[in-house]
This record gives sequence, C-alpha cells and structure tokens, in this order.
Amino acid sequence: MPLDVMVEKAFRLVRDGKIEEIGEGRFNVVGDHGTYTVQMSPIGRLTCNCQGFSRRKMCSHVAAVIIYRDLKPSKPIS
Ligand SMILES: [Zn+2]
Repeated sequence: MPLDVMVEKAFRLVRDGKIEEIGEGRFNVVGDHGTYTVQMSPIGRLTCNCQGFSRRKMCSHVAAVIIYRDLKPSKPIS
C-alpha cells in the first residue's frame, strides 16, 4: 500500500470514529477486515497486531492512532 493511501485510510478511520482508547496505552482500531489492537509502549512506540504491521513495521492502524492522539486534547500526566 503506498504511503499516501495508507495515510488517507488512517484519516478515514479517525474521522469515522473507528479508534477506541481502551486504556494502558492500548487502542482498538476497527479496520476493513477486523478489529486490531494498537499498543503503545512506555517510550511511545506503537505496534499493531495486523499482518501489514508485522511485514512493514507500519500500518494504517498505527497511523490512525498517531493522528487520533494528535487531534484530541492532551491529557495531563497524573
Ligand atoms: Zn495494523
């Protein structure tokens, strides 16, 4: 998948409300072929359990979570 298509898809996931924050740095992303879990490590690294991510270390789900976090108001660190 070309990068621009992936980014476009990521924006669509965010716009359509397909990202659900489930806590502890975990996000559910409802993709076209199922729901995937994006996990953020303590150092802010994102991983996804889809096939595309395991092949290329990047996917539209991870990109969508990056966009989602960028758009929402940042939470104070507690
Ligand atoms: Zn993915």
